[in-house]
Amino acid sequence: MAKLLIGGEQVDSVGKETTEVRNPATGEVVDSVPKGTSRDVEQAIGAAETAFKEWADVTAEDRGKMLMNACGLIKEKSKEIAQLLTQEQGKTLFEANLEIHHLLHGLEFYAGLASKVRGAHVPLPQKNAYGMVIHQPIGVCAGIIPWNFPLTLMGTKLGPALAAGNTIIIKPASTTPLATLLCIEQIQKATYGEGKQQRTLPKGSINVVTGPGSTVGEELLKNPRVRRIAFTGSTEVGRHVMEVAGREIKRITLELGGSDPMIVMEDANLEAAVRMADVGRFFNCGQMCLGVKRLFLQESIADKFIGNLAELLKKKTVGNGMSKESRMGPLHLDYQRKEVEEQVEDAKARGAKAVVGGERAKGGDLGRGFFYLPTLLTDVPDDARISTEECFGPALPVFKFKDLDEAIEKANSSIYGLGSSIWTRNMLAANKAIEKFQAGNVWVNSLHYGYDELPFGGVKASGVGREHGPEALDYYLEPKAVVIVNV
Ligand code: NDP
Repeated sequence: MAKLLIGGEQVDSVGKETTEVRNPATGEVVDSVPKGTSRDVEQAIGAAETAFKEWADVTAEDRGKMLMNACGLIKEKSKEIAQLLTQEQGKTLFEANLEIHHLLHGLEFYAGLASKVRGAHVPLPQKNAYGMVIHQPIGVCAGIIPWNFPLTLMGTKLGPALAAGNTIIIKPASTTPLATLLCIEQIQKATYGEGKQQRTLPKGSINVVTGPGSTVGEELLKNPRVRRIAFTGSTEVGRHVMEVAGREIKRITLELGGSDPMIVMEDANLEAAVRMADVGRFFNCGQMCLGVKRLFLQESIADKFIGNLAELLKKKTVGNGMSKESRMGPLHLDYQRKEVEEQVEDAKARGAKAVVGGERAKGGDLGRGFFYLPTLLTDVPDDARISTEECFGPALPVFKFKDLDEAIEKANSSIYGLGSSIWTRNMLAANKAIEKFQAGNVWVNSLHYGYDELPFGGVKASGVGREHGPEALDYYLEPKAVVIVNV
C-alpha cells in the first residue's frame, strides 16, 4: 500500500482508513492509499513550515540545481511512473510518457528561472532617497490537482513554488495519487552542491497528502498557515476554493474548465487542421481543460472536413492504455462517461447526427472499463447541452458558419475563455481573431500547446491567474517595496 509523504517520511494516515485506486480500463484494484484527514494536513503544514526556514535560505542558484537534479531522478523511474499513470488514469502509455516529458520540461524551465528573478531600483521624488522592489517567497503553498493530467499539473505548481523558495503540500485527486507519490519520492532525494557541500532537499519541502477534497482539500483551503493555493479542476469547485481561501486572504490561482472553439476558414491548410482537430479533441480521451470542444467550419469546406475527420476517427483503436494498439483509452470515471453520454443523447434528441461514434465502445474486454467511441456530431443546435456546457470526453460538435464575424461571435458565446484557435492563411482574419477572441490563449494554425515559456490561464469562468512562463513565478513571490534614504 502507498503512504502519505510528510516531512520526508512515508507515513499512514492518523485515521488509518484507506482508499482503493482502480484501473478505469479493467476495474481492477491497482493499489490502496491512505485516506488522509485534516490532522494529517496539519502535520504536513508543520513539516512544510519547518522546511521553509531552511529552503528559503538556500541560494536561488542551488534551488535551480536541485530541480535539475530532481529531473534526472524522475527519468530513472520514468518507465515505472508511466505504467502506474496509465493503470490509475486510463490514458495510453504513449500519452503517459508524453505527460512525463512535459513534467520534466516544466521543471527544467523553472530550474533555469530560479536564479533569474529580478527586483527593481526605483528613483523617488524625495532627494537622497531611492526605492527598491525585492521579491520574497510566500511560505507554505498547496497544490490541489485533478485526475486528467496528474503529473504535469502537479509540476506546474511544484516547479515555480520550489524555484521561488517556498515549500509545498500536494493534494492529488483521490483517483490518481499513485504516479504522483512515486514521482515525488524521487524528487525528495534531489541534491544540490558539490562534495562536502552537497545537500539534500530539506525534509518537508514537498509533502503529499492523499484523501478526499472534502477533508484534505478543505483543510488546505481553511488553514491560515497555508498562504497560497494553486488549484486545477472544475469551475464549480474553483468557485468554492475562491470563497473559502478568500476568507483567509490567501494568494490563489484557479485553472478551471473550458469550451475551446476551433474556427476553420476556407483558405486554411485543411490537412493540418483535420489532424489537429483529432488531437485537440481526442487526446487523453478528450479529458482536457484545453481541448477543442466546439468546431466551427466555414460552409464551403465543411462537408469535406467532416468526411476527412470522420475517416481518421473510424480508424482510432479504443482500448486498454497498456496495449500498444490502443490510440484512445477509457474515460477516467464512470460518472464522467455518463455525463458525456447524456450530452450526446441530448444533442441527438434535438436533431444532431452522430457521423461517427455516439455510443459506448463494445467487444472483447471493453465492457470492463469506461470506454466510449470517438464521436463526431453534426447539425447540433446552439442550445444543446454539448454546445453550452463543457464536454469532458471524446465527443465533438460541429457548427457551420458563413463569415468570420459570425464564427467569432459564436466562439465567444461560452461562459468559458481558456483557448481559442483560428485556422487560416489570411493575416487579416487571423489578426481579427487574435484581437476579438475572449480567451487566455489564442492559437493561429496551431492548438493547445501548453508551452512552458508562455503564460497559461483563462478568462471568464476558466480561471484566475496564470501558470507557466516567468509570469507563474510572480504568483509564488511577494514583492516588497523598500525605501532607503541617505541621511
Ligand atoms: P474537481 O474540481 O471536483 O476536483 C479537482 C481537485 O479538487 C481534486 O483533487 C479534488 O479532490 C479536489 N476537491 C474536490 N472538492 C474539494 C473541496 N471542497 N476543497 C478542496 N479541494 C477539493 O474535479 P473532478 O475531478 O471531479 O471533475 C469534475 C469536472 O471538472 C470534470 O467533468 C471537468 O469538467 C472538470 N475538470 C477540469 C479540469 C481541468 O483541467 N480544468 C480537470 C479535471 C476536471 P478529490 O479527487 O478527492 O475529489
